[in-house]
Amino acid sequence: QAARNGLEGMLVYIDLDNFKDINDSLGHYMGDALLRELGQRLQALADPKRLFARSSGDEFIALLEVESGEASVATELARIQQAVLAPVTVNGHQLVTTVSVGVSLYPEDGQDFTTLYRNADTAMYAAKTDGRNTWRRFDRAMQEKASERQQLLAELRGALSRDEFSLHYQPQVSLIDRELIGAEALLRWHHPVLGQMSPARFVPIAEESGLIVEIGEWVLRQVCRQGRAWHEAGLPPITLAVNLSAIQFQHHDLPSTVARILDETGFDGRHLELELTESVLAGDEARVAQTIALLKHHHIRVAIDDFGTGYSSMAYLNRFAVDKLKIDQSFVREMDTDRNSASVVTAIIRLAHSLDLNVIAEGVETERQAQHLAQLDCDEAQGYHFGRPVPPKAFTALLQTLPEQC
Ligand code: C2E
Ligand code: MG
Ligand code: MG
Repeated sequence: QAARNGLEGMLVYIDLDNFKDINDSLGHYMGDALLRELGQRLQALADPKRLFARSSGDEFIALLEVESGEASVATELARIQQAVLAPVTVNGHQLVTTVSVGVSLYPEDGQDFTTLYRNADTAMYAAKTDGRNTWRRFDRAMQEKASERQQLLAELRGALSRDEFSLHYQPQVSLIDRELIGAEALLRWHHPVLGQMSPARFVPIAEESGLIVEIGEWVLRQVCRQGRAWHEAGLPPITLAVNLSAIQFQHHDLPSTVARILDETGFDGRHLELELTESVLAGDEARVAQTIALLKHHHIRVAIDDFGTGYSSMAYLNRFAVDKLKIDQSFVREMDTDRNSASVVTAIIRLAHSLDLNVIAEGVETERQAQHLAQLDCDEAQGYHFGRPVPPKAFTALLQTLPEQC
């Protein structure tokens, strides 16, 4: 129609931000009711120039005729957002949902539905990665990023079988006597062209594609094997910490996978610590509690990584059998220069201790920070000041310098 009549148009891709949480925590009935209500609200905006549809799951799309110029785009989006953001009441529950929105314009961003849809999807994805509850218009840079992501994903698929992953180990020390007490295993990908790549870059892609489940299993097995080998070599026992992605944690198989790996490798669960992020604990409460309980059968410890940066519900600290809080490095970095960060660090340490939890500071880079943390009664520390993440061989050498213990 737009092509025939020389008009401009836009395709709006609307994706709910927290739909899965609503389904998980309140049940599918509530999820369905929410979708129906949002569908009706959007439908109420429809007229000959505005077409709305539910494209799948929790995604809606709108095809709109617009006047040229940014103002018209913004007005249309404001109407859609207003409709979606108003709270929905179902069975006495008030549901508040936000949306991430991607926009592509006809004719600049595509001449046919498929292209416009794909580009709006790419823009929606950018809105998600920019923190959600916002909208983005498609642009070339986004497209480049999207195709780079596609490329990395394709390469990531073969990385395990090509043996391109390795693990580095970073020391964790006690702040009482500065003794080495543990290590965090950090994943490295040796990309055939780009070289060593940080997990911060590829883990999100692995998560999105589900590949993280397979990669995470590899990490866990590798760490348990390594731990067992160090033990057999007569080296002092230390705790090995492994990062778990939320996707991995939600995977129904996690407890049995962990049990199988412990069994296979002969590594003692007492020396294994799993690092979860706060977002993991915000999921379905009964399931999270059950998963943690199953892990506890093997005496595995659970730490909350990057504590203080996520969705910090104090309730879960009681409810789930968590053992340790890891103060996020952003607070540690600024604790000597910024009073607020110092207060957050102090508060986290007190919170941990009053709940009988251990507390470790990450990203400790200076002696001054280490002393400050020790003064505040922080139990443990990790960071460049005590040692960078190093390959297993170098870590073995470090372990060999420790005094013999049982
Ligand atoms: P994280 O678990 O919070 O790990 C700490 C990160 O801080 C690591 O980055 C580490 O190298 C870095 N770091 C340690 N000490 C210092 C310091 O003193 N100063 C500064 N500036 N940085 C320090 P890395 O290795 O790039 O890992 C980034 C993130 O990737 C990790 O954050 C973790 O969330 C994730 N990750 C790493 N390995 C795995 C894995 O096996 N599985 C999953 N799912 N995620 C992983
Ligand atoms: Mg970690
Ligand atoms: Mg961290």
